[in-house]
Amino acid sequence: MRGEGAETMRVEVVAVGTELLLGQIVDTNSSWIGEQLAAAGLYSHYQTKVGDNPDRIKAVLTQALDRSDAVICCGGLGPTQDDLTRDVIADVLGVDLEIDEAIADRIRKMFTSRGRTMPENNLRQAMVPVGCRVMAQQPGTAPGLVCPVPDGPLAHQNDDRSVERSTNRVIYAVPGVPYEMKEMVTGTVISDLVARSGRPSVIRSRVLRTWGSSESGLAEVLAGRIEELDELGNPTIAFLASGVEGLKVRITVSASDEGTAMTMLDEEETLLRQLMGPIVFAVDDDNMETVVIRALAERGLTLAVAESVTGGYIAGRLCAVPGASRVFRGGVVAYHSEVKTSMLGVPEGPVVTEQAALAMAEGARRQLGADIGLATTGVAGPDTAEGLPVGTVCYALSGLDEAGICPDASGTLQLPGDRERIRQFSTISILDLLRRRLS
Ligand code: ATP
Repeated sequence: MRGEGAETMRVEVVAVGTELLLGQIVDTNSSWIGEQLAAAGLYSHYQTKVGDNPDRIKAVLTQALDRSDAVICCGGLGPTQDDLTRDVIADVLGVDLEIDEAIADRIRKMFTSRGRTMPENNLRQAMVPVGCRVMAQQPGTAPGLVCPVPDGPLAHQNDDRSVERSTNRVIYAVPGVPYEMKEMVTGTVISDLVARSGRPSVIRSRVLRTWGSSESGLAEVLAGRIEELDELGNPTIAFLASGVEGLKVRITVSASDEGTAMTMLDEEETLLRQLMGPIVFAVDDDNMETVVIRALAERGLTLAVAESVTGGYIAGRLCAVPGASRVFRGGVVAYHSEVKTSMLGVPEGPVVTEQAALAMAEGARRQLGADIGLATTGVAGPDTAEGLPVGTVCYALSGLDEAGICPDASGTLQLPGDRERIRQFSTISILDLLRRRLS
């Protein structure tokens, strides 16, 4: 922060670990943190990866503190000698490390509760640089640290620079293990950064998930609103392409309190839904299958599937939802034509047709005793089949219910991509079709 009341914070991410440089693990932590910072309206201008070497970690931290207000350092908080982050932070701040007895106790208890004796090495994790605060979240043995940086030059620097240096700087140290890091960034780091920035204290986001439009199509539909929001500056919206999971539209608002933030999110969601229409299939952590399962449950309907080209993907996604058994009767992977005919009653002849898909859907419904049957049959490639191009996928829904909610339907898709992509695309497209029928 370049003085009290500054508009926003410049935040850097430093990922520590030699294995990151060797390509043994991919630095997903930095990208995840970057996403959280952006959602909270915080600037992040640099991300650095550095190996487990004290001089180089120190050089990276020093440089980061020279040009930014805050540094989030992830990794290197483990119990072994090559976990150096704590020691280097103490060195950069010019302070000693001292044991935090409460943390030492907590770590000991974690071991004894699992019937193990704590190796002495683990006490390294209870060493905290003097003046630093331990984060409340501690899902693993490594505590996260909030380390305020004194104004002016760092302990080892000669102050020969004329560039304005931030006041109220801070280093956050979080573990490299992703789920531990995430809990601390969400629980402590983001709110601490927002509080330091002197901006409204509540930043909230909501993600609208869409299926069935291209990014440019969506941008066109939302162009007017995007322009208005650019003027307003709050809320903001961002597109996140998620491959076969569709496009996400994230709304972010900043407000003085939780209630106002929620009202702003609700209003923006309503407005965007009016513009985007039925392509919005879910919000936040919901996905296509949770939405489909819920819609079936609300209507008291059951589902069975017969899959050829998707080979169990639809059933797999549905079964991943806890409680799916309330509505999902089961599925048949009817891959060979003989299975389609003998088990599902598909007439002899070509099997990549809408008629075959309808017979499969009807067969699955009948065999598995469900209200609705869903079926896929197609050509995933690399070879063509039945004279049809790769990517041809026929689908069908069968099982008109009394209220006419889900009349028989069939169709043909021409999907791009390789075998895997065609199978994944078919799966979500067909689930989306069912969702639309049910809504
Ligand atoms: P802990 O003490 O909880 O083990 P740590 O701070 O010592 O954490 P590291 O030893 O640096 O963490 O990393 C532990 C594991 O976390 C790595 O083996 C890797 O699987 C994962 N990890 C570390 N850094 C990253 C990163 N930047 N992105 C994704 N995964 C990471």
